[in-house]
Amino acid sequence: MAETLFPKRQRCKACRGSLGKTVNDPVLFGLYCSPKCAGIANPATRPEDAPRECTTVRDGKKAFKRVYRSEGEIPDRLREDPSTSWYTCAAGHIHIGHTRMGTPETFRMLGSPEDLADFLVKRRGKATHAQVAKAAGVQPIRLKELENPKKGQRVDVHVLFAVMAVLGSRPGVAMKELRA
Ligand SMILES: [Zn+2]
Ligand SMILES: [Zn+2]
Repeated sequence: MAETLFPKRQRCKACRGSLGKTVNDPVLFGLYCSPKCAGIANPATRPEDAPRECTTVRDGKKAFKRVYRSEGEIPDRLREDPSTSWYTCAAGHIHIGHTRMGTPETFRMLGSPEDLADFLVKRRGKATHAQVAKAAGVQPIRLKELENPKKGQRVDVHVLFAVMAVLGSRPGVAMKELRA
């Protein structure tokens, strides 16, 4: 039988204390009142130290994702949109995964490495190289290389994808039909 989860569950499964009484009281895995009761480590207090599944990138900086304590706390307009998904992270939070709601993508063609560099610099905005590189899990020098392309320079394409993802973008190709 499936376990009763918050908000139906009113007491912590481990300590039997009250569960999620006020909006500020944490509820982990829908069952527990604290990391201790859930038998997990205390979550990171700074987004820089938190795992990827708990964080997102806002204005080029790593930030905590919104935490929901039950599926019912996810706003209806989000929950009912087929492009929205959610998951429970290792810390017992419910987070929203991908949603395309309200975030249309625009497409821009790049004609040269300089175009790409220009895009990266502008998209990074006020965030520093170090901040974006850290969020992407790459060395700052690798990001600087992408922003200052030189002939003969080696580029790790994995770095490019990681950096672009942090900047809320993804590479694409435009294709002409090949004729035999
Ligand atoms: Zn407890
Ligand atoms: Zn989390």
